[in-house]
Amino acid sequence: MAKPKVAFYWCASCGGCEEAIVDLAENILPVVEAVDIVLWPVALDFKRKDIEAMKDGEIAVSFINGAIRSEEQEEMVKLLRRKSQIVIAFGSCAYLGGIPGLANLFTRQEILDTVYFDAPSVVNPNKILPQLATDMGEGEVTLPELHECVKTLDQVIAVEYYIPGCAPPPDLISEALTAILEGKLPAVGSVLAPQKTLCDTCPRKDSKPEKISVSEVKRMAFTQIPDDKCFLSEGVICLGPATISGCGTRCINANMPCRGCFGPSKAVKDQGAKFLSAFASLIDSEDEEEIKKITDSVIDPAGLFYMFSLPSSLKAKFFEREV
Ligand code: SF4
Ligand code: SF4
Repeated sequence: MAKPKVAFYWCASCGGCEEAIVDLAENILPVVEAVDIVLWPVALDFKRKDIEAMKDGEIAVSFINGAIRSEEQEEMVKLLRRKSQIVIAFGSCAYLGGIPGLANLFTRQEILDTVYFDAPSVVNPNKILPQLATDMGEGEVTLPELHECVKTLDQVIAVEYYIPGCAPPPDLISEALTAILEGKLPAVGSVLAPQKTLCDTCPRKDSKPEKISVSEVKRMAFTQIPDDKCFLSEGVICLGPATISGCGTRCINANMPCRGCFGPSKAVKDQGAKFLSAFASLIDSEDEEEIKKITDSVIDPAGLFYMFSLPSSLKAKFFEREV
């Protein structure tokens, strides 16, 4: 019997999701045995034309990581959508926009100006910018056009499932692969991770009091938190209350607060807003001046509360631009 065809593709991401597949270590062997990998640019030399030559729906599952920022990424995910029965948004960037999504706080022009003209380390007296097409003598070299903003995968194509995480942990990937191979996938639209909050599974949850009062926001770089104390109760921002579990509390175990890479539970539409409202209720003051002092001490609130989810947030509508 023919093995199911599987594709892996990456868009705007750091490569960590590709590492996560490699991190399956020996668990990848039964997968490789059971499926026929037809595209995996980071590891195998298949070409776009190989996918174009396939029949529509011929690929059983495509795992796509990374957000969508360029013309080429949009073309490739639309091609993979056509050729695939199931598309999985793999990792935080494909699922929620991820860290590349923080670029939506700026216009494309602002980003290009910073990167190519204004950054202190840049020397570019002739104001040269990358061109979409450059004649090199031997032929024309082309670059894909950058979109005006970063989008999640499901803002560009239909997606059946989501595997969260920056990067997704190997046990979650293994469980998803097993479910796919055994045909035991849940309802379309599901996030393939437990829906409990991270706080519910946190080894420090017993030190989290019923009512937390925050009178000062501390930064990890300038404070020491005992390794059995809840970060929030110690005044360090931790997105555990607004984030689902499934990562194995890996940041907490390394004595770092959660930054929310697994995204919110199904019931929550906007992870940052959810945390913001929870955080506002923790502030221990009625005095306007004092409240301002506490909120002002949160450095880079947009980057903190929306570190992984800006393009998927309700706030995204303020940044909506033509793709
Ligand atoms: S707020 Fe953070 S440290 Fe505290 S219980 Fe939740 S996940 Fe753990
Ligand atoms: S603790 Fe939070 S930020 Fe860290 S891996 Fe888990 S969900 Fe992601």
